[in-house]
Amino acid sequence: MKEVFIGRENLLKLIGRWAKDHRVYVPVTFDIMNHPETPDYELVKEEVPASLELHGACPAQTPKSFLFYSREVVSKYPNSNPEAEVEAPPTVLVGPRACDLEGIKKFDKVYWSTKHFTEEYDDPFYIEKRENTTIVSVDCTAAKETCFCTIVGGKPYVDADFDLNISPVENGYILSVGSEKGEKLMAGSDDLTSEVTGGHHDEQKRIRGSVTEAIERQNAEFKVDVPYDKHELGSDEDAWAHVTANCVGCGACNRACPTCTCFLLWDQKADGGYERTRNWDTCLSIGYARTGGGGNSRANLPQRLENRIRCKMEYSRDRYKLVTCTGCGRCIDVCMGRIDMREAIKHVVTEMAKA
Ligand code: SF4
Ligand code: SF4
Ligand code: SF4
Repeated sequence: MKEVFIGRENLLKLIGRWAKDHRVYVPVTFDIMNHPETPDYELVKEEVPASLELHGACPAQTPKSFLFYSREVVSKYPNSNPEAEVEAPPTVLVGPRACDLEGIKKFDKVYWSTKHFTEEYDDPFYIEKRENTTIVSVDCTAAKETCFCTIVGGKPYVDADFDLNISPVENGYILSVGSEKGEKLMAGSDDLTSEVTGGHHDEQKRIRGSVTEAIERQNAEFKVDVPYDKHELGSDEDAWAHVTANCVGCGACNRACPTCTCFLLWDQKADGGYERTRNWDTCLSIGYARTGGGGNSRANLPQRLENRIRCKMEYSRDRYKLVTCTGCGRCIDVCMGRIDMREAIKHVVTEMAKA
């Protein structure tokens, strides 16, 4: 794998070069709402923002915001060609973490199925964006108190499935090329980079090790004897009612989650005709499982929270061979009831073991 070292000033120049022929999003620190460990994305315009933040943990938004828009017109009618144009300009997304790349795996399986899973469904809106987006992942240099990737089989840095990866080290960054797309981004940048030294590698190893240890330490209390990929959560009504006690059914947990792939189609009048939009859906909403004739298989809130958590830990494992909770902690960060995925799983698995 090709690796180079780059200082901060030169990295800003390199990103500026990418922005000449790509739409580039970078993580920056915001003054309000976010604390320094939670940056969020900003579009690079004239200049790369000086508030570029490559330290800390995963940004507030997930890559799905860029690959599967929260609202997108997918059809206009009446029209001789009812399929809407796909909006997918060349894009570089700097900042996804290892947990985010795990999240993209679920989208690949669901919406680019012929390449990544079975031959069931290929979504042109997703595939074109995915093909035209280069992912520049970043090692986590700190953990939020809600990060728990290590208890669901992950780690706070990548070693596969990235295009280009940034490892922050002292006085700069190690850039590692992981794909042809990453190679293209680095073309013609020799004037900005130098060789990676043994000292840089030692520093990378030290940071990766210490963040991994910090995540393991802060999650020791949430471990259960059953391995995460063997969890059977079951439908114990009392156990689910207990974990749902503070839930208000707002669906923020679904929207913040890097692996929630559900959508709802919505038709409305537009430009003398009609347009059909695809919108993120949330299974915490009462209407999610409503059927014609007034039926609802998940009319109660505990049933809906049960569905969300079992979808991540069991249904995706059975359907896609993937546990789709990546441990990013975002559902905990956004929950007004402070419902903690780790506590919920531990409670239900423990109650199941007693049954
Ligand atoms: S964010 Fe929290 S309160 Fe809102 S639906 Fe999810 S679990 Fe319930
Ligand atoms: S069923 Fe719920 S938890 Fe599963 S992907 Fe859909 S919205 Fe997310
Ligand atoms: S369920 Fe929560 S912790 Fe797991 S991937 Fe989704 S947002 Fe992250």
